[in-house]
Amino acid sequence: MADRYLNHIGGKWMPAGDGEWFENRNPADTNDLIGLFPKSSKADVDAAVQAASDAFDGWRLMPAPKRGELLYRLGEILAARKEEIARLMTREMGKILKETRGDVQEGIDTAFYAAGEGRRLFGDTVPVELPNKFGMSIRQPIGVCGLITPWNFPMAIATWKMFPALICGNTVILKPASDTPASAVKLVEAVLEAGVPAGVVNLVHGTGSGVGIPMVEHPDVRLISFTGSSAVGKDIATRCGPQLKRLSLELGGKNAQIVMADADLGLALEGALWGAFGTTGQRCTATSRLIIHKPIKEKFLKILVERARQIRIGSGLEETTEMGPLVNEGQLETVMKYVEIGKKEAKLLCGGNRLSAGAHRNGWFYEPTIFAEVAPRARIAQEEIFGPVLSVIDASDLEDAIRILNDTRYGLSSSIYTRDINAAFRAIRDIEAGITYVNGPTIGAEVQLPFGGVKDTGNGHREASHTVLDTFSEWKSVYVDYSGKLQKAQIDTVE
Ligand code: NAD
Repeated sequence: MADRYLNHIGGKWMPAGDGEWFENRNPADTNDLIGLFPKSSKADVDAAVQAASDAFDGWRLMPAPKRGELLYRLGEILAARKEEIARLMTREMGKILKETRGDVQEGIDTAFYAAGEGRRLFGDTVPVELPNKFGMSIRQPIGVCGLITPWNFPMAIATWKMFPALICGNTVILKPASDTPASAVKLVEAVLEAGVPAGVVNLVHGTGSGVGIPMVEHPDVRLISFTGSSAVGKDIATRCGPQLKRLSLELGGKNAQIVMADADLGLALEGALWGAFGTTGQRCTATSRLIIHKPIKEKFLKILVERARQIRIGSGLEETTEMGPLVNEGQLETVMKYVEIGKKEAKLLCGGNRLSAGAHRNGWFYEPTIFAEVAPRARIAQEEIFGPVLSVIDASDLEDAIRILNDTRYGLSSSIYTRDINAAFRAIRDIEAGITYVNGPTIGAEVQLPFGGVKDTGNGHREASHTVLDTFSEWKSVYVDYSGKLQKAQIDTVE
């Protein structure tokens, strides 16, 4: 009998109203059934919105430092369960244990960061024009927030949204990706154990069309925070538009690492391998383009290919594995399709095969794949593949490298390896991306710095840092006139 996991609505665990279920299987071994999850529909979303609306007043009126204490306790609970959650996460989405532990750690960091905000949530007090009058700005919660998340960072991304939303006084409904519903259950269990009141955090499992769209379109959901593909982000934006609904979008990427001839090549090599093949290339910040300065091309690629071939591929639960499977069959098919396109567009240096024998026979495994001599406008250099595929593009100098890097519709993460401080600062200034690393790979965000991108990667919001508070709160300006008479701003003048 498979384990059955439930939705959480208004403080109660419950199945979908329709009684439908979907399966969640291990991508490293599809015989391993993790459990059955409620396949929810609009009626379940409506119930969750009602519960979140009912809980809103109680939660927003709880002093923010008190809300912060609950989040602090939640951080401690996640820390105590880190290993258990990481193991389950590896089982359901495939990335290796070291990475799922890091994913949970990001949730813990976010909890402590948000807990501290409970005693800040700074506004401004500013001088005003007229005598005996006081001016300040304060943050106010928005209401019920719909959180829609992808599968690649089941804990980090859910907590990046949920904890800032909560500290600002909002109530939430989480709709996790259907590939990683179990991690979301573990998160909500920890939320409840920390003492967050019923209805403040609700969990509704299901598909994008069955749950995501009804949540986006529900008039009482005042904000949607979405992380996922640019195509779905655009669809959500068109649905939110007519309701003038607040919307934060974190979307795709086609991130590049530049390696200049003067770089520490050993360091750049480690960065490229980790950036391209970490999380099996399924990070929104993954390095999918390597822009290489021509003088070092041959030497660098020779070692890169040697090292890529040595990457140990298998179940992420084995401590010796360096790269796990792709998350599902659809993602594998996407990778295979792009490798076929790449073979026509560029030179295949290594990889290019599905692994389906022996220990790999029941999973969605694929070799680390590198293409060289890729034209900057080739499809494999422009479209997000979301797999272990690296496209290498030649650059003649720094200006050429930056021009190639910027020549994409995305703008999430970027990186440059150089020992030339002038080149590094020019890159920081001229690269069009939300994140630039100098002498580090494109991956590795920390919660105290803003996270997000430009162009088709988003719509101008940032997660993490104090900047995320601007997504989850409304500014209110407050004027207190203690003069006892009518004073007219811009009309009455003070002699
Ligand atoms: P996806 O867009 O297919 O799905 C994301 C979530 O949206 C899932 O929960 C899904 O069920 C839901 N959904 C799907 N269609 C919907 C609709 N029409 N309305 C409402 N909800 C809908 O993305 P994915 O395959 O889960 O994740 C991979 C994508 O996410 C990649 O493009 C990656 O770059 C992006 N991503 C971006 C960031 C970032 O911070 N910029 C982080 C991680 C992943």
